Amino acid sequence: MTVPDKLDRPARDRYEFVILGAGCSGLSLCYYLLERGVDAPILILDRKRTFEDDRTWCFWDVEPTPFTQRALKEWRSWDFVSTGRSVTQTTNRYPYKCLTGRDFYEHALARLAESPNVTVRLGEEVGDCTEKNGEVRVETSNMTIRSRQVFDGRGLPPGSPAFEEARRRAVWVPQKFLGLRIRARKPVFDPERCTLMDFSVDQSRGLRFVYVLPMGEREALVENVYLSEADVSQAEHRAEIGAYLESIYGLAPDEYETLGEERGYIPMTDHAFPRRLGERTHNIGMLGGETRPSTGYTFLRIQRHCRALAAAVVSGADPPERTYPRRLDLLDSLFLRFVRERPGECPEVYRRMFAGVLPDSLVRFLTEKSTPLDEAHLIRALPKTPFLKLAARTLLAKSSAPGP
Ligand SMILES: Cc1cc2nc3c(=O)[nH]c(=O)nc-3n(C[C@H](O)[C@H](O)[C@H](O)COP(=O)(O)OP(=O)(O)OC[C@H]3O[C@@H](n4cnc5c(N)ncnc54)[C@H](O)[C@@H]3O)c2cc1C
Repeated sequence: MTVPDKLDRPARDRYEFVILGAGCSGLSLCYYLLERGVDAPILILDRKRTFEDDRTWCFWDVEPTPFTQRALKEWRSWDFVSTGRSVTQTTNRYPYKCLTGRDFYEHALARLAESPNVTVRLGEEVGDCTEKNGEVRVETSNMTIRSRQVFDGRGLPPGSPAFEEARRRAVWVPQKFLGLRIRARKPVFDPERCTLMDFSVDQSRGLRFVYVLPMGEREALVENVYLSEADVSQAEHRAEIGAYLESIYGLAPDEYETLGEERGYIPMTDHAFPRRLGERTHNIGMLGGETRPSTGYTFLRIQRHCRALAAAVVSGADPPERTYPRRLDLLDSLFLRFVRERPGECPEVYRRMFAGVLPDSLVRFLTEKSTPLDEAHLIRALPKTPFLKLAARTLLAKSSAPGP
């Protein structure tokens, strides 16, 4: 998909707002600014040349977002599987929804195109941003632009300075995955249930699970996910998915076709990503630390933060530092450390969570909407000794860490 004609105008040299990155956070922030009635000039810059259907976002429907109505599919039941043991949970309250990249970009761009004050420029590699004399100077491969405020949503590509800094300084678990969108020749999937985690796969190269989102009886997105530093090539990911399809669904390689592919590296980390790089330069999305450290889920946090940020920009209030409760930080750090230090025990810990916590409570915890009672249920389901030991060490590490 290319940029709609109405958004593809020549850039001026001054803007009120410049947004770096036309990805999830950049487009969402612009959407919320427009919803708040902003009519000052907004420029969005991105290095890519087209909008590809490059990812599928899933999230629990715990609150409205402008994109929820475009969800392609939802599941009210999900499976958790580890060797020889599986758990199925069902909830009518909070379905798990799936939104394709294509539908997200299309919906966001259509809304942006309704407003004459928005320009989107693709093919612009953004370099340095410097604040001087009450404005920010943004250098791109083709031009220099000045703006009153800049929002940086360029993500966390592996190897980028922010990525390397976080990896060096904090607890870090790589979530590396590749997913195939496949169509089978025979009906093998149950479209009413998705598989959130299937750990009954080979674990010899690191903590690994398979995630299955059936779109119908014959179609599914099947993802092979490593929560480890294992260096797995794309060919190996595809081969592991092929072996899984054969062993679990009886699908030989010639019994399905691949319709598409997506892949990613989501850093799970408790690094405190800076919210601002200056008075007028704000970080949003993954770069602003919107990935949940213990799960890698990011989409809902991005929506919450961008909505609150747009409201603050319009009212002149201070931008929000965070939109999730501080009391979950310790539990998040504990889970993260557990995955990092005791990967072999994780399938059983996740199983206890899925088996021992009611689905609505678990969903509220996973979406940072939990009540203290939900959290008490979760803690009760966890093995006490290793988590208490980790809690003591985590608190000690945090209390002796140098201040900001
Ligand atoms: C395949 C995949 C599936 C995912 N699935 C889920 C999910 O199911 N649920 C969930 O909660 N999260 C999911 N995530 C995590 C997260 O929600 C997404 O990565 C999300 O897109 C992050 O949004 P962002 O705005 O921070 O970055 P992005 O959406 O990646 O946007 C960053 C943009 O910045 C541009 N850019 C980068 N550097 C430059 C530069 N120097 N100059 C100009 N432009 C630049 C990029 O081209 C890109 O368009 C997934 C991630 C991936 C990769």
